[in-house]
Amino acid sequence: MSNNQLFRLIPKVDVVLEKERIKEVVTVYGKEPVKEAIGYELDKIRKYLSKDPSEDGLKEKLDVLEQNVINLVTEKKKSNLKHVINATGVILHTNLGRAPLPQKALDDLMVKMQGYMNLEYDLKAGKRGERYSHFEKLICEITGAEAAMAVNNNAAAALLMVSAVGNGKEVVVSRGEQIEIGGKFRIPDIIDQSGCKRIEVGTTNKTRLSDYEEVITEDCGALLKVHTSNYKVLGFTESVEREDLVQLGKKHGVPVIEDLGSGVLIDLSRYGLRKEPTVQESIKAGVDVVCFSGDKLFGGPQAGILAGKKEWIELCKKHPLTRAMRIDKCTAAMLETVFSMYEDEAYAVKNIPVLNIMTTPLETLKEKANRFAAMLKEALDERVKVDILLCENPVGGGSLPGEMLPSYAVTLQGENLQVDAFADALREGELPIVVRLWENHILFDVRTMYEKEFEATVEVIKEKWNI
Ligand SMILES: *Cc1c(COP(=O)(O)O)cnc(C)c1O
Repeated sequence: MSNNQLFRLIPKVDVVLEKERIKEVVTVYGKEPVKEAIGYELDKIRKYLSKDPSEDGLKEKLDVLEQNVINLVTEKKKSNLKHVINATGVILHTNLGRAPLPQKALDDLMVKMQGYMNLEYDLKAGKRGERYSHFEKLICEITGAEAAMAVNNNAAAALLMVSAVGNGKEVVVSRGEQIEIGGKFRIPDIIDQSGCKRIEVGTTNKTRLSDYEEVITEDCGALLKVHTSNYKVLGFTESVEREDLVQLGKKHGVPVIEDLGSGVLIDLSRYGLRKEPTVQESIKAGVDVVCFSGDKLFGGPQAGILAGKKEWIELCKKHPLTRAMRIDKCTAAMLETVFSMYEDEAYAVKNIPVLNIMTTPLETLKEKANRFAAMLKEALDERVKVDILLCENPVGGGSLPGEMLPSYAVTLQGENLQVDAFADALREGELPIVVRLWENHILFDVRTMYEKEFEATVEVIKEKWNI
């Protein structure tokens, strides 16, 4: 067969498009990306033919043409954002999306997000409503606040709170609470950004009520308290209780605002964890506005929630920054669901993943580790050493600083196992697994692993073992 004849055997793009399997891909991804992939694959065949003009070679190439096109299109269309197995044991892992969302929030989202929704529409009155209305009452019921709202994250909430309440005047803050939130966002920067004047009082380890009182003048716009949620000052320390700060604020007619960081709504000490100040306590103490994160210990979507006295929250709602930081409908919907879950604490602890993962007893984790280890032993050959190990991990996400939670990890060890390369391999593929390494062991901390995914996880490990 002459070269020309051979080249004429290469099908036209339109002909390939009519193949049954290709048509199926077109229904999923649309015509254009498939056409492009066919063109690319046909070009490859032409290039091949010009180097090696054999009929057999061409036949081989044509046999796999359809599959190659399908692979190319699906590979290109694969999502970059993926579900990941978190085997690090760090519950609030900012790199891994922080709080995993409650199933109920996802289910509700599927229903509420179909088509249009009443985000800013009062269905009873038939006119414009407020996007916070769907969860404001719930927040008030749970926390005891008079009013509430939410913005995109707690960094935004803190900036809004200081800007709106401080109103360009002086904002007083303790030197012991000048924290960096991460990502170069620091409390002093927030105050400076707000256009307020930063008045620092006390020292790193000690700040007294009199330190605040001394600097209060008629230019004072707010007293700011910040929960040192990602570090701890130990030893010779003193800080002012929020009750005392509130009294001082009242005496001088100055509002007290508080950035709580991770917003806890339940008393964690009831579950054997260290107590974190709750939002309820802050409101009860009389703080005028408190802000906290939606995706830390609260266990919901990324958001910054503001709650407190009506006059100040109204001021925040009207502030121009609010429009720039406003939450979208998905966040509003999820906040409504997650807050509603807190109406019953036992239900919340069971069904909000962050709370559930955090309060799982050690004994339960041990049993979980044993089950996972047994599955791995069965799946891998006997040269792989599978064990369980008592370990520790931080909660992460700037919560419960210094507190290490005991947990159990399943460890893998092999004679020629290159742990770094293996850990790299585990992160590739459609179900990436992020692990911890310890000496020459691979650690799978079962605390943050979902049991329903054990089987799929074992499959990935088995597949990668032969690298
Ligand atoms: C984490 C944290 C923030 C920032 O919250 P994001 O939701 O991450 O924006 C602000 N203040 C404190 C005290 C925090 O711990």
